[in-house]
Amino acid sequence: MRIETLLNKCLPLKSFVYSNVRLDEGEFRDKLVVTIRPRKNGVVLCSCCSKEGSVYDRLSVRAFDFVPLWNIRVVFEYKMRRVNCSHCGVKVEKIPWATGKSHTTTAFQLFLAQWARKLSWKETAETFGSCWDTVYRSVKRVVNYGLAHRNLDGITAIGVDEVQYGRGQKYITLVYQIDEGMRRLLYVGRKRTTKTLLRFFFEFGKKRTALLKFICSDMWAPYLKVIRKKAPQALNILDRFHIVGHLTKAVNQVRIDEVKKLKQDGYDESVLRHTKYCFLKNPENLTDKQQVKLDDVLDYDLKSVRAYLLKESFQLFWNYKSPYWAEWYLEKWCGRAMRSRLEPIKKFVKTIRNHQPLILNWFKAKKQYSSGVVEGLNRKVNLVTRKAFGFRSYEVLKIALFHTMGNLPEPESTHRFC
Ligand SMILES: [Zn+2]
Repeated sequence: MRIETLLNKCLPLKSFVYSNVRLDEGEFRDKLVVTIRPRKNGVVLCSCCSKEGSVYDRLSVRAFDFVPLWNIRVVFEYKMRRVNCSHCGVKVEKIPWATGKSHTTTAFQLFLAQWARKLSWKETAETFGSCWDTVYRSVKRVVNYGLAHRNLDGITAIGVDEVQYGRGQKYITLVYQIDEGMRRLLYVGRKRTTKTLLRFFFEFGKKRTALLKFICSDMWAPYLKVIRKKAPQALNILDRFHIVGHLTKAVNQVRIDEVKKLKQDGYDESVLRHTKYCFLKNPENLTDKQQVKLDDVLDYDLKSVRAYLLKESFQLFWNYKSPYWAEWYLEKWCGRAMRSRLEPIKKFVKTIRNHQPLILNWFKAKKQYSSGVVEGLNRKVNLVTRKAFGFRSYEVLKIALFHTMGNLPEPESTHRFC
């Protein structure tokens, strides 16, 4: 079987012909060069308006990278023509295997983008004899196609989340769809200001916003303000994941302060050494070593231990079913926590009290949106941001996030190459 036959099966061309295939043996890597020529009586289309025109002239040969065959680079060579278009004037012609000025075929772009979900972008480039830049541009193209063709109908529940990235205090705002059966990233915005979230609602549109029933978010004031203003009909739920996160931070602060104080006053602080994760992790996630350490430290009368026990008793709050009893427990807990004389914990209580109705909304929503949803998505985002792709640039990060979490439709193709 000839390679031309295989090509005609995988990527049939209407107005063009695969006319010749030759193997160029290179010093580092061989390549298969596929020459394409226009089919006799084939039409020539304007790349601007896709309408038929007449041939104006021919340009020099252009090469396009195609999906490698048996680890041999495959290159299409074609002498591009210019079209005399009655609408646009003289323009370069439209070709079915690539778009714009790209030297990578659409099929290869899709191939790279699909692999870039399984491997890092660097690994993808290395594996398929490409470069990081081409992988990035391929992913970007597939993502942009997906964003233009995605369906945003029927969204009733969203989660708003913020994530730190790069060096320093740089934030991005993320909006997810968290409906049962459809969880995906909907929006990425720079910073975490009022403006950032307002832009989401602007892009999302009034009609769709009016259909929202639940919005999960953190206690971040700018978000709460925008949600109140733009989607007053939706139940704003402060999600468990973020609340627990704030409490965990407070417990850690108590421990840090205590270690410092003990050292200052000349006491032995060794009992608190290596206890950070013993206090922060959920008991069921502790390693055996951490469990022994925790059992040991709990025997001491320490502020850190008191903070830890308060954190553990706070977990019971989430077990309540009725909003009434949940509130009763929360108030009881807050009273006890205020009497603890632990400053970071008291600060946490104040935040909780300021947001009590929104926290109780979770029980009103019958716990539909468990912490697991937002937490799982948040974890995935952190995985993407941490991968060493050179994601210090916001634009690249945004593309990578949509690529892995956007659940976006992909451009149609005649053949799946991977
Ligand atoms: Zn035209």
